[in-house]
Amino acid sequence: MTNTQPIPFVPPFDPVAGMARCAEAIFALDERVDAEGGFPAGSIALLAEAGLLVAPFPPGLGGGGLGSHPATIDTLRTVLTMLGKASQAVGRLFEGHVNAIVLATRHGADIVLTDLAGEARAGRISGVWNAEGETGLRMTRGDGGWRLDGEKIYCSGAGAIRRPVVTAATAPGAPPLMLVPDMTAAGAGTDLAAWRAAGMHGSVTGRATFDGVFVGDEAVIGNPGDYYAAPDFAAGAWRVLAVQLGAIEQVIALHAAFLRDTGREREPVLRSRFADAAADAELARLLVAAAATQGEDRTAAAADAKNYVNMARTAFERLALAVIAATRRNVGLSSFLAPNPIDRVLRDLETYLRQPFLDASRDSFARHVLARKGP
Ligand SMILES: Cc1cc2nc3c(=O)[nH]c(=O)nc-3n(C[C@H](O)[C@H](O)[C@H](O)COP(=O)(O)OP(=O)(O)OC[C@H]3O[C@@H](n4cnc5c(N)ncnc54)[C@H](O)[C@@H]3O)c2cc1C
Repeated sequence: MTNTQPIPFVPPFDPVAGMARCAEAIFALDERVDAEGGFPAGSIALLAEAGLLVAPFPPGLGGGGLGSHPATIDTLRTVLTMLGKASQAVGRLFEGHVNAIVLATRHGADIVLTDLAGEARAGRISGVWNAEGETGLRMTRGDGGWRLDGEKIYCSGAGAIRRPVVTAATAPGAPPLMLVPDMTAAGAGTDLAAWRAAGMHGSVTGRATFDGVFVGDEAVIGNPGDYYAAPDFAAGAWRVLAVQLGAIEQVIALHAAFLRDTGREREPVLRSRFADAAADAELARLLVAAAATQGEDRTAAAADAKNYVNMARTAFERLALAVIAATRRNVGLSSFLAPNPIDRVLRDLETYLRQPFLDASRDSFARHVLARKGP
């Protein structure tokens, strides 16, 4: 069932002010999270204290519909960018949490929402685990629910998230259904052994395994195929861009501080590269703001909304890679040396920029524009 009723928006508090209160502490914690790996429990606790884990839920569950209600989109964008500036790993985890709640809200999964709100009140996030390797995740009909067998890969928050949204299908290529298993149930497991990434250590993006895990019908979201429905699946990628934009802002701030602190701001060549990087960062900011507005515009044709965000992803990646290249060249070897925060922020951004379907989304945008007769 799809929820077509507008959600009354009652902001219980100011999410931007809440984020501002904890951003500095999360940035400070990020150095240790990067060095030691593991789930950033301290940073998630700060978000919980600031009310941000509950903010995306509908008002009936204590939230303000952050990310679901049209009036909240600018606020969510601002919060995601502030958080991405403090920590991309924590930003990635929070963005997944918001995505899970937005999906459950949009598809009217009330029991799931109540369960996830209970998790959030206990300080635990959710997430969305869709990526698959060769094995994939299969579902088989059982009495009053589904049996899950197989695995998901690249699951952020693996080992910490108890109630993720996972996608599973009855057969390879069949439209997937969204289910919310209990990762503490018998047969469910996680494995972080393969997560030895260059960056994004704190996102703990591991493998989730399922061996006959039962999920009742009350823990299902929507109908098969809803996960990839247009424009939401493609257009929702603006949220990832908003987190990554925060990283770009942090790179520019650290880059500028380096030039000032070393006196290299007096070098015209370095200033010229910095100017290009700062201009690219500003272009990225304008792009993300437009992508959020266009991607969430439910009065627009679905193909227009999703392809605007597809265009934004393509252009944003180019801008981000240019900012990284200019910063590495200006800062030089110390941009690769921990504990210089530039090293961590750049490694995280280089890793985080590897997102799904980038070439396919660029191609979708090209086809969309080419199919038009008018401007
Ligand atoms: C930090 C981090 C956290 C993540 N967390 C999650 C999570 O919580 N949940 C989740 O579901 N996923 C998560 N992911 C995974 C993400 O959804 C993607 O699956 C992953 O980033 C894909 O990256 P890739 O570069 O391996 O892409 P690939 O899809 O392997 O693409 C690599 C390249 O091949 C191209 N390509 C891909 N397929 C084809 C094809 N058929 N033909 C031609 N070219 C092709 C692509 O365009 C790209 O250039 C996370 C990723 C990162 C980086």
